[in-house]
Amino acid sequence: MIQCFYNTVKALWKGKIGMIRLKNVTKSYPARAEENDGGLNLIKALDDISLSIAQGEWVAVMGPSGSGKSTLVNLIGCLDRPASGEIWLNGQNVANLSASELNHVRAETVGFVFQQFHMIPYLTAVENVMLAQYFHSMTDEREALAALDRVGLKDRAGHLPSQLSGGEQQRVCIARALINDPKIVLADEPTGNLDAANEEIILRLLRELHQQGRTIVMVTHDPVVARLADRRIELHHGKIAAQEVFAMADDEQFDEVLEELFALEENGQIAEIGRMEVHGALPVSIAVEKMAAMGLVATRPHPPGSHAHKPFVNPCHDALKPAGFSTGDGSAIVELTPRGHQRAADIIRRHRLAERLFTDSLAMDSETEIEQQACKFEHILSPEATDKICTFLNHPLTCPHGAAIPPGPCCGRRAESRQSSAALSHRH
Ligand code: ADP
Ligand code: MG
Repeated sequence: MIQCFYNTVKALWKGKIGMIRLKNVTKSYPARAEENDGGLNLIKALDDISLSIAQGEWVAVMGPSGSGKSTLVNLIGCLDRPASGEIWLNGQNVANLSASELNHVRAETVGFVFQQFHMIPYLTAVENVMLAQYFHSMTDEREALAALDRVGLKDRAGHLPSQLSGGEQQRVCIARALINDPKIVLADEPTGNLDAANEEIILRLLRELHQQGRTIVMVTHDPVVARLADRRIELHHGKIAAQEVFAMADDEQFDEVLEELFALEENGQIAEIGRMEVHGALPVSIAVEKMAAMGLVATRPHPPGSHAHKPFVNPCHDALKPAGFSTGDGSAIVELTPRGHQRAADIIRRHRLAERLFTDSLAMDSETEIEQQACKFEHILSPEATDKICTFLNHPLTCPHGAAIPPGPCCGRRAESRQSSAALSHRH
């Protein structure tokens, strides 16, 4: 099972360059007096950790307080050295470098974002950013202002930290972390001190950094925040206790979004992000953004005029908000691209064929049971199995609710026989 999991991880990241690699890394601290009988005990903050993080990968590090998360991030960030083991950053082993060499690698490669913002209180926002430039031996106010502009804070450049909200201070810290265009961004509980609105702003900035191809290691306690990453690593007592790759779970949620968009289109309704209700770990708006990047959907601003939303039910899902009226200030409109449309039609085809199979052939009569099963089958049926079921059912045209089943490659004959019967009736 574990072997199988690692093969999957390997396959997923096959061909990608290991940006960060840890080999048997251990870091110990002297135990505190009360835990320390003879004065010789050590706490293993990290205990023989091996880990590879691909270039462009976003990893979330979770685990209880004291499990070694910050120690891990600080070692990757060259703030400290391990007791033993190797730490490879972008092809260089930094485990045995001197303090000044570590400073150099850190300045070249790493950007840090901490939970405590670590801003100098008597320097303005732009001066705090310029201080980071100073450590990279270049100060350039225009460049520093441009960095603040990228995080949406140009007009706050002259404010002191005490005049900024927590979210704004954290954005200054992100601008500061990016000053040397680092390949690796390390964030230790970056949203730990923020309210929901500011958390979202920071997470969007991290997503942009990810989209730009940077490698991100982010410590978080929040499972929803962790879901934005590609992979989650859980530390317990300085060891990796669990890992989970998220890309596959996301796929199922994307399927749900596609299905809903397809059903809306079928019913002549337009899809507004704010009105969509899709179950899954990601907020709908972020799922849609990811799908747009994959070429499955496109978004456009809500039209200025108002329009009505007709009530509409997709029997498989709780689906949409009830009928309503949208004024011009509604949220963005989502549309399927041709690729998204094809994938949506395939999902809908599997779902509706499964409904037919359970209703007609297996004589299941609980609507709830049928829907639950169909919702599972739509994700797991292979193209071959789908075509076999379709052929077995004699290429049905509609699901038990009367909605059309998109034809598949096996349905050629269905079209032919219908054409010939149409031709026959024409002749007579
Ligand atoms: P986390 O970030 O998961 O809360 P840390 O990496 O900060 O955990 O700490 C891991 C363990 O190492 C804890 O037991 C902590 O007390 C200990 N530790 C961390 N830093 C030091 C230090 N500078 N001196 C002594 N012990 C430390
Ligand atoms: Mg910590």
